[in-house]
Parts: sequence; C-alpha cells; structure tokens
Amino acid sequence: MQPENPNSSRRAMVGGLATGLLGAAIVPASAAAAPAGGNAQGTPASAPDVPLLDPRTAYKQPPFETQQQPWPGLTGKMKPRPDHGETSYKGSGRLKGRKALITGGDSGIGRAAAIAYAREGADVAINYLPAEEADAREVADLIRAAGRKAVLIPGDLKDEAFCRKLVADAARDLGGLDIVVNNAARQFSRKSILELTTAEFDETYKTNVYATFWVTKAAVPLLKPGATIINTTSVQAYDPSENLLDYASTKAAIMNFSKGLAKQLAPKGIRVNAVAPGPFWTPLQVTGGQPPEKLPEFGADSPLQRPGQPAELAGVYVLLASNESSYATGQVYAAVGGAGGP
Ligand code: NAD
Ligand code: MG
Repeated sequence: MQPENPNSSRRAMVGGLATGLLGAAIVPASAAAAPAGGNAQGTPASAPDVPLLDPRTAYKQPPFETQQQPWPGLTGKMKPRPDHGETSYKGSGRLKGRKALITGGDSGIGRAAAIAYAREGADVAINYLPAEEADAREVADLIRAAGRKAVLIPGDLKDEAFCRKLVADAARDLGGLDIVVNNAARQFSRKSILELTTAEFDETYKTNVYATFWVTKAAVPLLKPGATIINTTSVQAYDPSENLLDYASTKAAIMNFSKGLAKQLAPKGIRVNAVAPGPFWTPLQVTGGQPPEKLPEFGADSPLQRPGQPAELAGVYVLLASNESSYATGQVYAAVGGAGGP
C-alpha cells in the first residue's frame, strides 16, 4: 500500500538538509528580523503536523509479481505501477522560471524529477526513445497540469549528432537552459563475462557514459553561473554486482566524471553533482536489468527490505538543482536503502 502523502516528510527532510547546507549565519536580514514568536517565512502555526512515515512500510515490500517486458518497457505495464509523486509531490516555487532538460524523463527516476521540477515552477524538456512515446505523453500532461511548458524530444542518445541537436532544441524551445539531468541508462544482467558481447558492452558505454559526455559538452556553452548539471550514477559505482560488469563500471565512470567536471566548471559558477540510487522500482529492472527469476525479491536484501520508489528521489534532484545547495558541487547524494553507496 502506498501512503497518503509520503512526500510531506520527504520535503521536511530535504528542507532540513538545505538548512544545514546554508548555515544559520547567512539567514537573510529580512528573515532574521521576523517578529518574536514566529518566522515571517516559516510554516504557519496553523498548518497541520506532518505525520511520521515509517520507511520500511511506506511502499510495497517484496515479493513482487513475476513480470518481464521488452526493453525499454512502459510504466503502465508494471505491477505495481511505480510512484513518481504524481499524487503527492507538492512544490513551493524552488525552481520558478528555470529551464530543465532531463534524459530518460519519460519513466522511473527521470519522471519523478520531471514532475517535481514542474511543480517547483520549471519548464521541462524530456528525452526518451520513440518506443516510450506513451510514457512521455503522460509526463508532458503532468508538467502541463503544473502550469509549466513541456517539450518532448525523442531520439537515441547513442548518436553524438542527436545529443547535440537535443540540447540545441531543448534550449531553443525552452528559451534557455539552467538544469541538465543526465539520467538515461542501459542495464542488462549477464551472468558471465563470457556472455557479455562487445556490441552490448559498447551500447552500455555509449548510452551511459558517451551520451553523458556529449550532452554535457553541448550544454556547457549555454549554461550561466548558477546553472546545475546532475548526473545519475548508482550504488553500483561503489559496490558492483557480479552480473552487471558493463553497467556498474559505467556508473563508476559517471561518478568520477561528475567530480572532475565539478572542479573544471566551478570557476564558471556551474555546479555538477550526482545522485546514487540503490534499488528502485522502475522499467529498467523489469526489462532485463535484473535476472527475471530474482525480480520478485527485488530490494528484499536492502536494510529497509524493499526497493525505493522514484518519488523518494524527487526531493534530491530538486535540492541539487536549486539555490539551496549552492555550496554543493562534486558531491554524490545517495538514497540506497541502507547498504553500500557513497
Ligand atoms: P527507466 O527505464 O525508467 O529510465 C531509463 C531511461 O533511459 C529510459 O526511460 C529511456 O528513455 C532511457 N534510455 C535508455 N537508452 C536510451 C537511448 N539509447 N537513447 C535515449 N534514451 C535512452 O529506469 P530508471 O531506473 O529510472 O533509470 C534512471 C537512472 O537511474 C539510470 O541512470 C539508472 O542507471 C539509474 N539507476 C537506477 C537504479 C534502479 O534500481 N532503478 C539504481 C541505480 C541507478
Ligand atoms: Mg522509460
């Protein structure tokens, strides 16, 4: 069962993190001058308390139904359908007027980021594969329902020329670019290195590493001070599974690339961070990312005894895109359910 509003406590958590990042010493003078007994910009005393959310039971625990879909998979065919915050994420204007591009924004973690960004006031362009048009349209509807502009740009990120066009088209249609989320990925489980073909190895590196390089390279000249790049790495970068040699090593490359790029772009005022998810319930996992026979127990070995839902990462993507994380660059923020990761 899904909770009524799991996001409320998530937002409280992220708000707490942001306060820690900024520090009390630089609270704006206007806030410091709030009348005694209340902060002019704080939560009204009349607002209802936020109920505690038990992370163990907040979402469905294994076992899951046996299921497989042809890659890249569709959200609507997953049982249960993942939660991307559709009914729970509440924005508070933290990204008002920003322009964001999210690769793999049609489903999973990218969809959760897209919904949250729109509800925080950003216009959002998403990239995805043509086979995912149905998922992409749902995301576009959600972005528009939040009163923001949605731009759909299907295409294959394994093609460098397409990556350049994607960034140019996104910037043209959005009227600029402030947030770039490199999130698309390919993941297929292979028991042995002897089963992993050169063509597959190449496809995984092209999708996960080269596309991140190509999209970022095209975007950097368009980004102004204060813009942010957010790359999706993984717990696999730190604790690789034996059946994901190609995928896990691309995630280590993305983590390392993010840290080096953060140093390179800091003098331009552009921040670069990465997000490291643990096991999350997304199409990636039901289309070959996990061995099909292990899927029913997906996430069971995590200390929280369940996989995460994409909605549980939305706040992290928002934080890294927003001014509230202005001293965070070259960092990896994780949500891994308790084991491994940075
Ligand atoms: P997902 O399947 O919903 O998203 C992956 C997306 O990648 C797809 O929707 C697809 O649009 C895109 N994609 C793949 N190949 C592409 C190509 N050649 N061209 C264009 N787009 C392409 O799954 P997800 O789990 O939300 O994945 C999002 C990110 O999260 C990925 O970087 C993944 O590695 C990372 N991640 C996921 C998990 C997890 O357990 N689900 C764990 C750690 C990291
Ligand atoms: Mg998808």
